[in-house]
Amino acid sequence: MTGEAFKEALSRFAAGVTVVAARLGEEERGMTATAFMSLSLDPPLVALGISEKAKLLPLLERSGAFTVSLLREGQERVADHFAGRTAPGVALVEGRVEGALAALWCRLEALHPGGDHRLVVGRVERVELFPPGPPLVYWARGYRRLV
Ligand code: FAD
Repeated sequence: MTGEAFKEALSRFAAGVTVVAARLGEEERGMTATAFMSLSLDPPLVALGISEKAKLLPLLERSGAFTVSLLREGQERVADHFAGRTAPGVALVEGRVEGALAALWCRLEALHPGGDHRLVVGRVERVELFPPGPPLVYWARGYRRLV
C-alpha cells in the first residue's frame, strides 16, 4: 500500500468541517479539522484526530477543555483561516466560531496515540445550537456545497 493510494482513498470520503478551539488564560487557539466524529450518545462523547504537530494540541492538553464549532455552508474563509491560510478579520468569539451551525463545549476525557496524530476524546458538557442550515463539506480536496 502506498501513501499516495491512501491519500487518494481518503480524498473520496466526504466530511463536515469543524473548528476546534481551546483557551487557557490569555492564550487561545483554533484549528480546522475534518477528522471529527460522534463517538457515544450516553455518555455524550466526540472524537477528533489532531496532528502531533498542531500547536493547538499542547494547549488543549493543558486546558483540559475545548470547543468544536460545526461550520455551515459559506464559512470557507473561516476554515481556511484556521487551517493556516490567514484571512483578515476572522476570529473566535467567546471561545467558538460565530455563525456556525452548532458549538459543542467539551471536557477532555482521554488522549490516545494515533500514529502521527492523537485521538482526542471529549465529553460534551454543553451544546449551543444556532439556526439550522446546510453544512460546509470537504470532499475531493476542496470545499463543497450540498445540492
Ligand atoms: P496554526 O497553524 O498556528 O493556526 C491555525 C490558524 O488559525 C492560523 O492561521 C492562526 O492564525 C489561526 N488562529 C489560531 N488561533 C487563533 C485565534 N485565537 N484567533 C484567530 N486566529 C487564530 N489537521 C488535523 O490535525 N486534523 C484534522 O482533522 C484536520 N483537518 C483539516 C481539514 C481541512 C479542510 C484543512 C484545510 C486542514 C485540516 N487540518 C487538520 C490541518 C490543520 O487545520 C492545519 O495544519 C492547522 O494550521 C494546524 O493548526 P495549529 O494548531 O498548528 O496552529
